[in-house]
Amino acid sequence: MHDSRFAVIGGGISGLACARALIRHGRQVRLFEKSRGPGGRLASRRTPSATFDLGAQYFTARSPEFQRELEAWQQANVIAPWPQSVWVCDDGDWHRKQDDHIRWVGTPRMSALTRHLSQDLDLHTQCRIEHLHREESIWWLQDDQGLRHGPFTQIILAIPSPQAQPLLAPHSQILSEACQCVEMSPCWTAYALFEAPLPPLETSASQWQTAFMNGGPLRFVARNDSKPGRGEQGESLSLLATAEWSQKHLERDADWVATQLLAAFAERYPVPLPGTKLLDAHRWRFSQPASAPSVKTDTQDFQTDSCGLALCGDAMSAGRIENAWLSGHHLGNHLSTSLETAI
Ligand SMILES: Cc1cc2nc3c(=O)[nH]c(=O)nc-3n(C[C@H](O)[C@H](O)[C@H](O)COP(=O)(O)OP(=O)(O)OC[C@H]3O[C@@H](n4cnc5c(N)ncnc54)[C@H](O)[C@@H]3O)c2cc1C
Repeated sequence: MHDSRFAVIGGGISGLACARALIRHGRQVRLFEKSRGPGGRLASRRTPSATFDLGAQYFTARSPEFQRELEAWQQANVIAPWPQSVWVCDDGDWHRKQDDHIRWVGTPRMSALTRHLSQDLDLHTQCRIEHLHREESIWWLQDDQGLRHGPFTQIILAIPSPQAQPLLAPHSQILSEACQCVEMSPCWTAYALFEAPLPPLETSASQWQTAFMNGGPLRFVARNDSKPGRGEQGESLSLLATAEWSQKHLERDADWVATQLLAAFAERYPVPLPGTKLLDAHRWRFSQPASAPSVKTDTQDFQTDSCGLALCGDAMSAGRIENAWLSGHHLGNHLSTSLETAI
């Protein structure tokens, strides 16, 4: 007999949401993730003295469906509201951003949320899927060690579309084309741990927790140590570059990128910065869809093919955690209720 019927490739928030929806409907699901742990773009880097979020820095909840899910995450103590103090820096001019959005962050780090969601799942980590094979309507996966996994009746790809496309191309023209329609922007994220707290600004902006940066290589800066659950962590920043700057310098080495992005921040921060104890950078080749709408309103935020392949994730919708979760959740519910699962 078959050990699993549904395979989900990708242990980011969309793959986890899809797997959990399928399991709620009583389906057998196996998840494959190429990294050491789940999370994808909710990744965090932990060092003995600080934790940095490298991808998404926070998220919002606009749909009632996602807001309901958030209540469960709050009860499990894996998220908390943050930031309360959002600023904008226009070429060195700092001012407070006024809006009504409640923003959320994983505690004690962003990846704690996806760790929580992966509990009790049949998750295979450090397992990169390189090929899909179909034999008499049954699917098999081949990983980077040459191992075969299966059989499965349904394969779900919950990975960025440029990574999904080569896996899908031999089997599904419709899904392969859907992937090709989505261009994804890169993002360099630098992260710095300082020897001392940042000197306060002359203005009341000294308590800023995040800042949208306009007019330079940076688009966003977050003070990791101001996030809930970070304990006594020292002053530390995540510095996210714009898509344009990231694209231009995509192949540069991380040291060079980190130095440039910190210097760009220093130029816009009116008081000299302390020295750094740690400075590095992480490259996201596929950070967010470049062309998708910022808020997806219809419910068809996934794609299926009758051959037993399906796609979900933020590339099928918009580049936010909420959209990625909704996409996986909707696909899991759709497959559970409408697909023929008998072999
Ligand atoms: C720098 C940055 C800033 C962001 N800021 C925000 C923000 O402020 N707010 C917000 O809401 N969203 C933000 N986002 C977007 C948000 O992080 C994503 O929309 C969301 O995490 C996407 O989830 P996903 O599950 O679709 O994909 P991913 O998180 O990319 O998950 C895909 C997973 O699949 C794995 N994988 C890939 N290929 C294979 C393979 N062949 N075999 C096995 N595993 C594979 C990957 O390792 C990864 O874990 C940001 C993203 C980045 C990078």
